[in-house]
Amino acid sequence: MHASLPFPALQPAPESANAGPAARTRAEREALKLEKRLCRQVGQAIADFNMIEEGDRVMVCLSGGKDSYGLLDVLMKLQARAPVRFELVAVNLDQKQPGFPAEVLPHYLQALGVEYHIETQDTYSIVKAKIPEGKTTCSLCSRLRRGILYSVARRLKCNKIALGHHRDDMLQTLLLNMFFGGKIKGMPPKLTSDNGEFLVIRPLAYVDERDLVAWAEHRQFPIIPCNLCGSQENLQRKQIGDMLREWQKKYPGRIENMATALQNVVPSHLMDGTLHDFRNLKATGVPDADGDTAFDEAPLPEPVGAPFGGVALVNA
Ligand code: SF4
Repeated sequence: MHASLPFPALQPAPESANAGPAARTRAEREALKLEKRLCRQVGQAIADFNMIEEGDRVMVCLSGGKDSYGLLDVLMKLQARAPVRFELVAVNLDQKQPGFPAEVLPHYLQALGVEYHIETQDTYSIVKAKIPEGKTTCSLCSRLRRGILYSVARRLKCNKIALGHHRDDMLQTLLLNMFFGGKIKGMPPKLTSDNGEFLVIRPLAYVDERDLVAWAEHRQFPIIPCNLCGSQENLQRKQIGDMLREWQKKYPGRIENMATALQNVVPSHLMDGTLHDFRNLKATGVPDADGDTAFDEAPLPEPVGAPFGGVALVNA
């Protein structure tokens, strides 16, 4: 169950009076529908997890990829309509990777009129100097990046850090942790930073990656390629992503059901004794519809549908 939106103004703005539906082309109508869906889903996630409150100053991490551009874009739309006042500061870390087009983001952000900061720190050279050729560089690189971004957030007096991870990233993380880490652990929509200083939020938690691809195309974001460091793409994450997409093709709705499952955890039906006291469990004598059906195999539940899903403009 999701909380209803506490702020009616977080709904998309009404359609303009002089651009009636009949006058619009099909592409315009699709784009409008997509914008409404993105605003609704982001507004809903913000409300459900109480991500943004009055007076917040939110640092929006911008990598130059489609997801973070989409995040900033939608947050700015919601900011303009929300009755709660909050500030957004777009931040990009220029890690001095070879070929990084340093002028792209400042130009874009200036034209957008949002407060922004570009932090330039040559982590690329540090990583290259410290990690032997052929070894994976991501763990040192992301540790350095995290420390820098915390210090930037502190300097800019931000209390929250918004990241562009979406629903599909979260499901991939869940499966990666199960398959390789032996844990049922996903990627949280909201959590304190590991140094305890900030709240990290993921307002795209309900958003389908295909919608972000479509939105990036529609808005013509100046995308910066993500392989400038020359590091290998995380192969396991890619494989899991491919697997999820394949499943979705064969069984439409499966991804939406998995995403819904993240909000419907039943500890008594797992095996974690720290979440459910199996040791001291006693029969109560009171019928319980959720109790064990013993010899009968539990029937498969009806699919719950797609609470947040929608039709993407294009397929990823
Ligand atoms: S892919 Fe490149 S930039 Fe990204 S974390 Fe790994 S080393 Fe750093």
